[in-house]
Amino acid sequence: MTKRLEQLYEGKAKRIFRTSSPGVYLVDYKDDATAFNGAKKGTIQNKGVLNNLISTVFFRLLEGKGIPTHFVEQVSDREMLVKSLEIIKVEVVVRNIAAGSLAKRLGLPEGKALPLPVLEFYYKDDDLGDPMINDYHIRALDLASPEQMRKITDIALKVNKILLEHLSDKNIDLVDFKLEFGVHEGEVLLGDEISPDTCRFWDKKTHEKLDKDRFRRDLGNVEEAYEEVYRRLTGKNF
Ligand code: UDP
Repeated sequence: MTKRLEQLYEGKAKRIFRTSSPGVYLVDYKDDATAFNGAKKGTIQNKGVLNNLISTVFFRLLEGKGIPTHFVEQVSDREMLVKSLEIIKVEVVVRNIAAGSLAKRLGLPEGKALPLPVLEFYYKDDDLGDPMINDYHIRALDLASPEQMRKITDIALKVNKILLEHLSDKNIDLVDFKLEFGVHEGEVLLGDEISPDTCRFWDKKTHEKLDKDRFRRDLGNVEEAYEEVYRRLTGKNF
């Protein structure tokens, strides 16, 4: 039995603990919600449980399709075991439909389908507000090697294909999402979480938002949206 030991780190949505198994960390998902780089704070009831369960569904799906992830196993409602990662400080955003900051920056209407998946990189640095960067900045700041970036790009596009197809069957459009990566024993693995906190999910027909934009934009029924994603993925009521 892997035991939870001391806390290593507390982030905005999760806490990370060392465990009795070497190379394995425990992630504890919180109900705390933040937006706009921490400027907006709140609580979404049961968010921690739902994000743990939803991330577990996605990590299992991806592992089954050969994507290397940090996921080990779900151990409780709010907790999962993961392989310890040296985090690569590059956040990767994949977009299929214009929304959020892309719609604003390029003057595109929200909801406009993009003719190809668009990849963006952001420097994972709260003090700087996670600025957008490109391959040259990544090299100049020595955030990742070109080989690691090739791997990350390849994984991100494969993840997009797998999730797009899986969610389409559940009547959900995958608008965009954010991935994080890390290195475990020399190998690049997909880390962090895949949840309504980190993805935009829209109902295929009504375009109703089933993600954290309900919190960011004060649209109401936030918990209900997370529960609906869980229901569509598992066929079970939360
Ligand atoms: N995203 C995230 N964490 C961040 C920034 C963005 O998980 O710190 C996700 C967000 O949920 C969306 C995608 O990345 O699914 C693209 O977000 P965008 O750049 O449009 O930023 P926003 O306008 O939401 O701040």
